[in-house]
Amino acid sequence: MIMETNISQRLLDVADFIPGGAKLLDVGSDHAYLPIYLLQEGLINSAIASEVAQGPCRSALANVAAAGLNQQIEVRLADGLDAFDPADGVTTIAICGMGGRLIADILTAGQEKLTDLDRLVLQPNNREDDVRAWLSDHNFHIIAEKVMAEKEKFYEIIVAQPGQEGLSPFEQRFGPRHLEERSAGFLAKWRRELGKLELALNRIPEANQGDRQAIKQRIEAIKEAIK
Ligand code: SAM
Repeated sequence: MIMETNISQRLLDVADFIPGGAKLLDVGSDHAYLPIYLLQEGLINSAIASEVAQGPCRSALANVAAAGLNQQIEVRLADGLDAFDPADGVTTIAICGMGGRLIADILTAGQEKLTDLDRLVLQPNNREDDVRAWLSDHNFHIIAEKVMAEKEKFYEIIVAQPGQEGLSPFEQRFGPRHLEERSAGFLAKWRRELGKLELALNRIPEANQGDRQAIKQRIEAIKEAIK
């Protein structure tokens, strides 16, 4: 029986970047929506859904059981990349719906386990530059980037695979593939940010030159990124 899941458009967009047939580890899989969806659609054959917290882990377990996917999805209570061993044969890791700094910390803590990986699919809720800096510093190459909007908020998806790519601070901030493609989602996100900064600049007194200069620099960087 196909169970109805409440999977969000955000996670559906993430699912588009999970390679067919991948052995997926979904870190921070509070309801296991992503692996359940991928299994139900026949896009992957097995997955590990991991959670550091008891309550979300129980939700994931209940949803996996209700979907009848106990054989295909293993739910594990673990911190970050402690959730798997080389013997699990994980090929793709998804880490979604967390701050960029936390995602980078999770990757740092388990970085020795990433050598045989095919792909990372990361969806930071903020501080995307921290994620890109981590990838650039740890021999990962960004192969795709997407900005999607849900409930008035923009979300970024960053897809990487092993490979050298040194990113400048500007590329870390805006995203190297975004800067090449300048997609509608990317432009919408940064035009909104530009509007906010221009409003903020108008409210800062001329006497406060330090703050005005800092905002002007951010405005110029955004204009350069979206031109
Ligand atoms: N990945 C889902 C999504 O994108 O909708 C859930 C996002 S939820 C906001 C973040 C989840 O990550 C929480 O359930 C939290 O317990 C879990 N989490 C945070 N730090 C973690 C870690 N170090 N290891 C595993 N899970 C973690």
